[in-house]
Amino acid sequence: MPDLVQVEDLSMRYGNVRALDGVTFSVKSGEWIAIMGPSGSGKTTLINILGGLDTPTSGRALVDGTDVARLNERGLTRFRAEKIGFVFQQFHLVPYLTALENVMLAQYFHSTTDEKEAREALARVGLAERFHHLPRQLSGGEQQRVAVARALINHPKLILADEPTGNLDESNEAVVIRLLRELHGEGHTILMVTHAASIGQLADRRIELAHGRLAQITVASMEDEERFDHLLEQVWISAEEGATPELSRMRRSGVKDPATLVARLKDLGLLVVHDSELSLTTSGASRARDIVRRRRLAERLLTDTFSVADTEADSHACKFEHIISPDLDQRICTFLGHPKTCPHGNPIPPGLCCPAR
Ligand code: ADP
Repeated sequence: MPDLVQVEDLSMRYGNVRALDGVTFSVKSGEWIAIMGPSGSGKTTLINILGGLDTPTSGRALVDGTDVARLNERGLTRFRAEKIGFVFQQFHLVPYLTALENVMLAQYFHSTTDEKEAREALARVGLAERFHHLPRQLSGGEQQRVAVARALINHPKLILADEPTGNLDESNEAVVIRLLRELHGEGHTILMVTHAASIGQLADRRIELAHGRLAQITVASMEDEERFDHLLEQVWISAEEGATPELSRMRRSGVKDPATLVARLKDLGLLVVHDSELSLTTSGASRARDIVRRRRLAERLLTDTFSVADTEADSHACKFEHIISPDLDQRICTFLGHPKTCPHGNPIPPGLCCPAR
């Protein structure tokens, strides 16, 4: 797949403030990228430059081969109408136009209006009953869905979303995220700013900014991360049981396609392989230990506090282990009185909150 977006040594200064400071990365067509980082780290600035809403101080941002900063006013208007679909936290709908007219306005800027297609776009986001409502007659979630329909109407190459769920309650957030997932599934390229780790996990890659600089790029999807966790956990448990962690054993304990997974974990510096025997590196062991701890704590919580039956606790715990944050991990552990073993009698690796043993 060719690169749809190329960002090269991009910097943006506002007076003394370095909003972006030499950021370089590229995005392939069809990728979903989450842009993350604390407030003020330059996320919005980056999105605005890519969308031609701002001009960088230095460096280049190419979208579909076009150097956005080199476009004149006319060129920029065309570029935005043809290549970009924007979804903002504040929706930015025209207040005196109906939902349908807001979508048709985007068509007008692109080429010509097509009411049938605009209605179809609104129906797709679940607003078939709201064509003639003004933005103020719509809930926040509905307004954001109009914005998504508007972003899609011209079949843009790139969807730029800046905290698209930032102003939504949980159920509307779920609707908008489901729409984004569908769009990604259909091959759209999405760059999305988000604060929420749970949303960031859905993306193919996460690009993390800190003080305007690229702090980290993480590659794996949530499904991949869970598969990594599962394999690392199995290697840890094998060693705990005094067995040799081998590929064949991983396969038997339900790890799918362990050879590919092991290769990726090797690349990430989490595993080493001697013959067919696996061993954890220091960082692999630390991650495996955290997963095992979270899982066993979750089992304890479910069995002791909620009296969930053993087998059911097992299956819930293996979902919990991926979503318990370090902070929650310590709170659960403290709440349970720092248990030493899981309900099956296996050791719970101690955490930072645990008294020295
Ligand atoms: P984020 O989206 O990560 O919260 P922004 O890209 O909005 O961060 O801002 C990055 C930095 O640039 C911040 O320190 C912010 O105050 C500054 N900044 C952003 N836009 C402007 C502007 N138009 N004028 C002056 N400073 C700005």
